Amino acid sequence: MKINYEAMVLSCIDPRFQPIVYEYLKNKKLKGKYSSFTVAGSSLGVTANKFKKWHKTFWDNFEASVKLHNIKKLIVINHQDCGAAKIINGKKEFNKENEKKIHIESFIKLKKIFKNKYPSLDFEFKFIELNKRIKRFK
Ligand SMILES: [Zn+2]
Repeated sequence: MKINYEAMVLSCIDPRFQPIVYEYLKNKKLKGKYSSFTVAGSSLGVTANKFKKWHKTFWDNFEASVKLHNIKKLIVINHQDCGAAKIINGKKEFNKENEKKIHIESFIKLKKIFKNKYPSLDFEFKFIELNKRIKRFK
């Protein structure tokens, strides 16, 4: 019997971020209902020219999950204080505003590519700000 799952979740490799993503998806009642693709920077890793080698791997995995798991959606979860955003930012001052701009541009770029490839599937994104308690574990 073919089971229908809900989504693929694209998220970052950052260790501080793993329990937050898990809790977020659990609260959305998605536990056990999603496939997972984790890459540095989440949407940044699959859109930025700096990480070009990773892009195809993501799309190949997404396509495999569409076929194998019959998913209907891509959920993209990025986070604040992301190392990949720092790399993209380069020598410019890295602050909250600059970082948010990097994430938003990447969400827009990814959504455009996604809607071209998969017009009937849904796209959702979330930007998680790390709280002070989590920042202590840096
Ligand atoms: Zn990150």
